[in-house]
Amino acid sequence: MHRWIIFVINLFYLYPDWPTLQATRHREKRSNTLSHLLQYTEKGLYCRQADVYIDPHRTVSRAVITHAHSDHARRGHKYYLAHHTSGPILRLRLGKNINLETVEYNQPVVINGVRISLHPAGHVVGSAQVRLEYEGEVWVVSGDYKTEPDGISQAFEPVRCHTFITESTFGLPIFQWQPQAQIFEEINAWWRRNQAAGKISLMMGYSLGKSQRLLHNIDYGIGKVFVHDTIWNVNAAIRQAGIALPEAIKVDRKPNREVYSGGLIIGPMSVFRSDWSIRLQPAVTATASGWMALRKMQRSRTTEYGFVLSDHADWPGLNAAIEATGATRVIVTHGYESALARHLTEKGCEAYEAHRFFRTGLLREAMPAEGTEWDE
Ligand SMILES: [Zn+2]
Ligand SMILES: [Zn+2]
Repeated sequence: MHRWIIFVINLFYLYPDWPTLQATRHREKRSNTLSHLLQYTEKGLYCRQADVYIDPHRTVSRAVITHAHSDHARRGHKYYLAHHTSGPILRLRLGKNINLETVEYNQPVVINGVRISLHPAGHVVGSAQVRLEYEGEVWVVSGDYKTEPDGISQAFEPVRCHTFITESTFGLPIFQWQPQAQIFEEINAWWRRNQAAGKISLMMGYSLGKSQRLLHNIDYGIGKVFVHDTIWNVNAAIRQAGIALPEAIKVDRKPNREVYSGGLIIGPMSVFRSDWSIRLQPAVTATASGWMALRKMQRSRTTEYGFVLSDHADWPGLNAAIEATGATRVIVTHGYESALARHLTEKGCEAYEAHRFFRTGLLREAMPAEGTEWDE
């Protein structure tokens, strides 16, 4: 008997936080049960009650797609639901025969008692946050979003909810964007300078989002604006969705640089070192991306100039957006999860990194690998 008492006392010294450990385990276990409106499976974010996935990364039967960027909209799902202006872009990228239903913002679809609706995310044309409501409980999945209106995608609208799953691509205090008007003044000045020197201005930017934002906000009074094939096709799809875009001339597949002298050419990053862009040399090159805010990226960039222009929210934008949802619980995903979750926790908010909350290995490289198509 005496030995047993000593054994138990020893145990206590060895594992002083045993009771708390038990409590934590219990909490964690609970956090992935069906009581949650959304859970994380190997195919992606899943609502069991409605049997739908949001931006799944593996083939599923029913997928709600926040926007047409390739890391969110994948091929092979049986049934797609997206915003109607995403429709033509999704068909262009995933095939015209996909089984797609489109809705307007704020137009709910009810599946097995779950009310699902899309709300403007301000990220790119047709981008949406997904709101799910079931038995009075509301969850919102932000998808990618930005808070500054870009003039072309429908401006971000905060949606009140209990649980908000937010992206955090630029979730560090060092990311603070200048107003769009100021960035475009810099871009216009850069173009004018190159033009005065009789040079081509070659701007690299993502084909969906950044390119249209450039087209919409650039000063057409300066000169002729050209786009690469890929962007030209995306533009056509966007016009088909009913969004007006200023005209831009398609660059030939085998361009003769004399034709483009003094002009501005917009091309996707993927063609930067291709035959196409080599034929345009010597040109003054630039990249438009939020990552240009990092000195490291500035140094390692492949183009001569870098403009800090992002289609994601910066640090103040993320914080303002989160606060505006009034959410009592915030789950941070897609980027600098621990930094933002910690900051929110310090402010007294119940916040989690997604992979901890859902207890998965779900982790993403915060920074894109070189040569990838940045969707920011
Ligand atoms: Zn994304
Ligand atoms: Zn995106």
